[in-house]
Amino acid sequence: MKPAETTPESGAETTAAGQAMTPEAFRRFGHQVIDYLADYHAGVASRPVMSRSSPGSIRAQLPDQPPHQPEDFAAVLGDLEGIVMPGLTHWQHPQFYGYFPGNADLSSVLGDLLSSGLGVLGLAWQSSPALSELEEVVTDWLRQMLGLSDQWSGVIQDTASTSTLVALLCARERTTNYGGVADGLSAEVSPLVIYTSEYSHSSVAKAAMLAGFGAGNVRVIETDSAFALRVDHLEAAIQADLAAGRQPCAVVASVGTTTTTALDPVQKISDITGQYGLWLHVDAAMAGSAMILPECRWMWEGIEKADSLVVNAHKWLGAVFDTSLYYVRDQQHLIRVMSTNPSYLQSAADNQVKNLRDWGIPLGRRFRALKLWALIRTQGREGLQARLRRDLDHAQWLAQQVEAAPGWKVLAPVTLQTVCVRYEPAGLTPEALDAFTKDWCQQINDSGLAYLTPATLEGRWMVRISIGALTTQRAHVQMLWETMRQRAEAAVSDHLG
Ligand SMILES: *Cc1c(COP(=O)(O)O)cnc(C)c1O
Repeated sequence: MKPAETTPESGAETTAAGQAMTPEAFRRFGHQVIDYLADYHAGVASRPVMSRSSPGSIRAQLPDQPPHQPEDFAAVLGDLEGIVMPGLTHWQHPQFYGYFPGNADLSSVLGDLLSSGLGVLGLAWQSSPALSELEEVVTDWLRQMLGLSDQWSGVIQDTASTSTLVALLCARERTTNYGGVADGLSAEVSPLVIYTSEYSHSSVAKAAMLAGFGAGNVRVIETDSAFALRVDHLEAAIQADLAAGRQPCAVVASVGTTTTTALDPVQKISDITGQYGLWLHVDAAMAGSAMILPECRWMWEGIEKADSLVVNAHKWLGAVFDTSLYYVRDQQHLIRVMSTNPSYLQSAADNQVKNLRDWGIPLGRRFRALKLWALIRTQGREGLQARLRRDLDHAQWLAQQVEAAPGWKVLAPVTLQTVCVRYEPAGLTPEALDAFTKDWCQQINDSGLAYLTPATLEGRWMVRISIGALTTQRAHVQMLWETMRQRAEAAVSDHLG
């Protein structure tokens, strides 16, 4: 640790009391940081995928109190390696099959670094014109790549959770003719109702809660044998609410549910939302990336009749978190709901430009377009398509192996790159089978060889294998399958009564 009085001349160029890090110190440490990250990515496959830290063990190594005196940045880097690194689960590892991929293509990492390094904010167009205009261009590039018509306009939000909240706020305002903004929801005489499937993401219920609908006004609609929303149940629920004097407001359809990547039938749902005048928001946070492949676009057939949709470029596509694309058809409506327009943010250019503060919740906006721009330019449409097709093939291969192995089952249609499996050896009660499933999955995670997430489907535990890390090759998936068979088949005897 350096004393406070150390000056740049005496060698502590990082900081002196009351002074920001100098550009020269930034250059020196910045090179080290890039080297560190390049080594990290090059060597990540040799680390255990899941962190082995126990709860509180990282915190216990950190001082309770902030330092009084300036420290050298080298000390920060030292603790990163010594304290932080063991507490990381490695999402960029080729054997990471948890949740959904959270890919960080290094081109997008550089774009994100540039965004941070430039330190500009988008409040209004004028606060950094290029920030707004590059975001307009890049969201439009992605629109074209997804096969959407030019009726859609996009903006980059932090997460799908935020995008879905914005969608439900817009739905609320359309149903109430801007009454929620003017007088608040409490002025409504009858409750507004949201419809979504039992497998929709938890962010949908959360958005409904935050937008003031109330948990009691979220209808959870049953699904069919492929875990997709049942349109007959949807219509019956809408009719029941109308008969009871409530106001049906919006349907949130999932294209690619989190549990199994099931596909709600957007076309049929849009017939109903059209007929009853409801808002249709499509949550394609994960599966939206697949729409850069023309052969996958049937999965969201009817999308042109939706009012809003969200696609996370920070999952499978490869733009480092946070890059959630939110598209709307009626941009004037969005702006009317979100705009406040205080005098200090107005400028002469306002009627010729997009002020992205009116496209979402926060005023401040990072220069997020840079990372998506970097990704799309360095991969090209074809590079991205080739990688997604590779992952779709890996998933089909794995599903075939599982189906051919005695006692093993694929539990849901493999629409994309996620395979839901269970090993069901004879002689286990349903409860013992649940314990067994969680046990072998945990054993694999503890081994550090691969990382999988267990989840429940129809009330029983199963294991999800979500393929799609950037570095996952067929040999990795083969190794995973061998590991699964060995660990699961060896664990059976511990669970037989
Ligand atoms: C990942 C996911 C979300 C949540 O994404 P965030 O960007 O983390 O909010 C929502 N819906 C679906 C279908 C998802 O896969």
